[in-house]
Amino acid sequence: MVNKEAADRTNGRGYLRIATEEAFAPASLLQTYLKLANEPGCDDPGFKSLWGFYAASPSARAQFIMNGLADLGAQRLAHMDAAGIDHQIIALTSPGVQVFDAPTGTSLAIEANDILADAVRAHPDRYTGMVAVAPQDPASAVKEMERGVRKLGFKAVILNGHTRGEYHDDPKFWPLFEAAEALDTPIYLHPNAPPKQMIEPFLEAGLDGAVYGFGVDTGLHMLRIICAGVFDRFPKLQFIIGHAGEALPFWLYRLDYMHAATLKSNRYPFMKQLAHPISHYLRNNIYITNSGVAWQPAIEFCQKIIGPERVMYAMDYPYQYVLDEVRLCDEMTIPSEHKKQFFQTNAERVFKLAL
Ligand code: CA
Repeated sequence: MVNKEAADRTNGRGYLRIATEEAFAPASLLQTYLKLANEPGCDDPGFKSLWGFYAASPSARAQFIMNGLADLGAQRLAHMDAAGIDHQIIALTSPGVQVFDAPTGTSLAIEANDILADAVRAHPDRYTGMVAVAPQDPASAVKEMERGVRKLGFKAVILNGHTRGEYHDDPKFWPLFEAAEALDTPIYLHPNAPPKQMIEPFLEAGLDGAVYGFGVDTGLHMLRIICAGVFDRFPKLQFIIGHAGEALPFWLYRLDYMHAATLKSNRYPFMKQLAHPISHYLRNNIYITNSGVAWQPAIEFCQKIIGPERVMYAMDYPYQYVLDEVRLCDEMTIPSEHKKQFFQTNAERVFKLAL
């Protein structure tokens, strides 16, 4: 529920703007990224392409992103005020700690979560945190999820794509899903660059990053999790995916048809018969944000396909800090109740916010 003070803060819009896929990274972690990207032994070409560039480039875009990621104080709040963003749901940027060996990843996750928790404590009305984990060590990741939710007050878990080339449909990662369901905490599956076994044709064309490779890999990753039967095993588990659903809503008709046809023909002996068609899981276990896609046709299509109660606003700060995109979303010609769900009430429900 919105209290009176919050209602006044909408300046007559009738809704708060809650941005649900916003990024941060401790400055020390960004330096660790650069060091790792430059190591001759680093065998993650997507990571080298991403952080070898952003952490070293003098370009205005890279500098803005590096400064924006590291700041959880006055600069971020000023940018939010300028854009009219009332609240950010903040997560450790991609690839989080998932690129490191297990002990390093585990300790860096704790460090990053503590830094974010301090910022949330300082600005509880403006920030909500997601828990970063190191799935390389599933048992420690579960412990950190529990600490993040129960002790730090975080409201979601962030998974940044593959973990050292492995997708999370592998049953060894399922303890994370079991814990998220038990904690009633959604998992945000955020992109990373495709893993080395997939990235070469993307890299050759300069399409490995957010322009395309991120979306292809994240759509695939989400589908792998659905097709592995994760939601049949954990029916209350909720995922969130960004970028207008990583194109999955657009594919949905064919996914349903071809998944059923493939099963029926016994083409792959390992393929599981699911309890429901793929579309069921998109409509019951997955929320979509529009991060980076301030475009009414795509947003409206997602609302139509999976329901207006499952589509949320995200800016993708600091990667896509574009004031005009907020205006475009405000001016969408969709029913006003759908707009309020999109900007405010879905996020309040999903992240259990009391603004
Ligand atoms: Ca993002």
